[in-house]
Amino acid sequence: MFSRAAPLLRNAAASVAKSHLRQPVRAFASSNCTLELAPSLPPSLHTFTEDEMMLKESVARFAREVVAPRVSEMDEKEKMDPEIIKGLFDNGFMAIEAETDYGGSQASFTSVILAVEELAKVDPSVSVLMDVQNTLVGILFNKLATKAQKEKYIPQLASGKLGCFCLSESGAGSDAFALSTRAVKDGDHYVINGSKMWITNSGEAEIFLVFANVDPSKGHRGITCFIVEKDMGVKIAKKESKLGIRASSTCSLSFDDVEVPAENVLGEVGKGYKYAIEILNEGRIGIAAQMIGLAQGVFDHTLPYLFQRKQFGKYIGEFQGMQFQYAQIATEIEAARLLTYNAARLKDEGKPFIKEAAMAKLYSSQIAEKASSMAVEWMGGVGFTRDVPVEKFYRDSKIGAIYEGTSNIQLQTIAKLIQEQYK
Ligand SMILES: Cc1cc2nc3c(=O)[nH]c(=O)nc-3n(C[C@H](O)[C@H](O)[C@H](O)COP(=O)(O)OP(=O)(O)OC[C@H]3O[C@@H](n4cnc5c(N)ncnc54)[C@H](O)[C@@H]3O)c2cc1C
Repeated sequence: MFSRAAPLLRNAAASVAKSHLRQPVRAFASSNCTLELAPSLPPSLHTFTEDEMMLKESVARFAREVVAPRVSEMDEKEKMDPEIIKGLFDNGFMAIEAETDYGGSQASFTSVILAVEELAKVDPSVSVLMDVQNTLVGILFNKLATKAQKEKYIPQLASGKLGCFCLSESGAGSDAFALSTRAVKDGDHYVINGSKMWITNSGEAEIFLVFANVDPSKGHRGITCFIVEKDMGVKIAKKESKLGIRASSTCSLSFDDVEVPAENVLGEVGKGYKYAIEILNEGRIGIAAQMIGLAQGVFDHTLPYLFQRKQFGKYIGEFQGMQFQYAQIATEIEAARLLTYNAARLKDEGKPFIKEAAMAKLYSSQIAEKASSMAVEWMGGVGFTRDVPVEKFYRDSKIGAIYEGTSNIQLQTIAKLIQEQYK
């Protein structure tokens, strides 16, 4: 049904690469208008290229027609429907920024953010599956892989193989570089031993980006990133049963004498810590997008009810006490969205974005939790049941304050950058 979107995106990608943000911008398409602007006039944060709009609409349609009917069952069963994963690949949503030569769409980072947001409006689990593939795994390959690694792996990541990002361990969470997984060089390969925890997508993944230390005497400067294929010996030790995003697989992994060819080092030996920091700075914008999508999704699900349900002879949405609450939440969702779009655009423009990304993730996760909590209350008893998806959004929202850096870690990053400015 959507398979035509992928070639369209890929065809469009060449023009994106040529036009997007590299030449003076003249024409912008938005959802309901196209304006001609003088090159010097900066556009609003709701202004997107035609290609970005096309992707956003295509993902929204996929979310509505393919994802929505499966959300509740996937949550109950704690399992992602394979048809959804296949659909994401078939539609070209899994390698949005990758070069067209390798089967990607070569579109902007903002395109990824819009896609993550659209999926999260319907199911934050599907959203994070696609987010990790694009903003963590995909970007690491795009940035660091050799030509041979790109030729081998990016087409697989674009067409059917799921990837995952394996940094955290039981003893290394916020302090990620305390990791203890070891990689020992042995001739033309490395031998990896250790374990990883909390790895998104690992239940279905076939390509694992594993951070291991090749020389603990150097501390974090021994951390190196390896491309590990599942059949090299990655074992799933445990699948977590979670509060939210239950359809997204989160597993512990074990590596027992896993032999990885030396040519599978991604980037330089000993630079893994640097890559992990950089990639998580970008990835956080993806989580912010997931959270604003979630907040908008729960809002959209709930608001119609306020104009169907009457109490005291009036629609409950007409009481001023309710009006002020939903007006406030709508404002906060929009503020979170603008933080997120701004961080994405800064990254696309090659400008500093770390503080803005941390702010976007921090605030969006707070607003997602607040919006979904309020939505449960706005629906009264009905909102507390599993007959409506609102309670699921509430459960799903909690993860925003935890992964890719907890809220405290975002505050720490923001504070550090403020200090650098003022101290
Ligand atoms: C569903 C899920 C999916 C995940 N997916 C992945 C994945 O794909 N890949 C991956 O590598 N990891 C993944 N993670 C791991 C995630 O990134 C970590 O859980 C997160 O970084 C927090 O680490 P922790 O759980 O060990 O908490 P801890 O680091 O133990 O933190 C516990 C509490 O202490 C606070 N804290 C810690 N240090 C400080 C400090 N210096 N100052 C102030 N407060 C502090 C934290 O803010 C938090 O409130 C995932 C986690 C979950 C739950």
